[in-house]
Amino acid sequence: MNQAPMQSTTNRRAGLGVYVQVPFCQAKCTYCNFATGVARAETYDPYAEAVCQEILRHGALYRAAGLKRWQSETPRFAAETLYVGGGTPSLLDPAALARIVHAVRDVFPGPFAETTLEADPETITEKKACAWRDAGFSRISLGAQSFDDQELKAVGRRHRRADIYSANETLRRVGFENLSFDLIAGLPRQTPESWQASLDALLGLAPEHISIYMLELDEGSRLGRESLAGGARYGVPALPEDDATADFYEMACEQLAGRGYEHYEISNWALPGRRSVHNGKYWRRDPYLGFGAGAHSFDGTERFSNAHVPADYAGAIRDGRAAIDRRETLDPGQSLDEELFLGLRQLEGIDLAEIESRYRVKLGDKVRPLAEEGLVEMVGGRLRLVASRLTVSNEVFVRLLA
Ligand code: SF4
Repeated sequence: MNQAPMQSTTNRRAGLGVYVQVPFCQAKCTYCNFATGVARAETYDPYAEAVCQEILRHGALYRAAGLKRWQSETPRFAAETLYVGGGTPSLLDPAALARIVHAVRDVFPGPFAETTLEADPETITEKKACAWRDAGFSRISLGAQSFDDQELKAVGRRHRRADIYSANETLRRVGFENLSFDLIAGLPRQTPESWQASLDALLGLAPEHISIYMLELDEGSRLGRESLAGGARYGVPALPEDDATADFYEMACEQLAGRGYEHYEISNWALPGRRSVHNGKYWRRDPYLGFGAGAHSFDGTERFSNAHVPADYAGAIRDGRAAIDRRETLDPGQSLDEELFLGLRQLEGIDLAEIESRYRVKLGDKVRPLAEEGLVEMVGGRLRLVASRLTVSNEVFVRLLA
């Protein structure tokens, strides 16, 4: 086994994270800027087959593509996590998902601490849930987003509140003991009352893990374009004010803490021992490999990613070529920016002295004014965001990275 190519810049050995992207959705949500889309169901199986081929042959594909860090004929790196995300991977035939899991396990030795599948509530049936469990998934991440039917409808989600309850009940019944729920603060038509109702409903289900995102408008989404160009079709006039969205987030911080959830990353909370192992790799800049259209990979120094268009991706794999269309070797300045931006997302913060020493920089002149303004603090040698100012974390990142 050749571990050398997968050293992270911290020289800390970490198990590999494996990510598989399934870029298909039933409908495009109005706020979504991801490279995902609606496709005919007949395309799902050939896509899954391309993903399996890419996983099984990735050593040869990478070598042929000139990824110098992949010299071994059949690189076998110990993997710690598998995360199948999207899109809506729960749309795939469970047998296709099982083939993907088996391909990953064939190529990468475990033990796998966590195997996650993203699922949308309306796609979950008992038969599928049993098949996912039997395929080896240990964790389901559920795109709940809201428990308010008007809000769900306004952004084009297919599921309704009742589907979330039904999905939760099904997943628990078949034995899943690790569920994560996503909510979005700042959706069109959201009010303090409807947000409180969503929080109450969520906490009533007591998932092991919760992700809460504040809606950010991006011109790659229909909602974002409408906000720039004007109009009311997608609900821009019904968007809460930024201050209201920040209040929603702070309500969540307070109430989740009161129910025993540890706030460990800006957008993530977990019951003890239930942090996302896979996502932690992104924030710590541990190595990960991504398979599928648009999937990203990182080996500690170089980032590379596949073609976004599923047909282009699958065509390259079918032709025996790597589907990589972007590569970037990070210089020390870029790596430092990532250490700060990703590291500070974790509420335990970063070891400032260690980072200064590793990158041979002094960050005091940037950190001091932020600390004087109460945006960051040093605690036990670690620099971290001040918990009560997380809603302005973007300002900290802009000033720290400038
Ligand atoms: S389900 Fe997720 S990936 Fe698909 S369109 Fe909606 S937000 Fe985007």
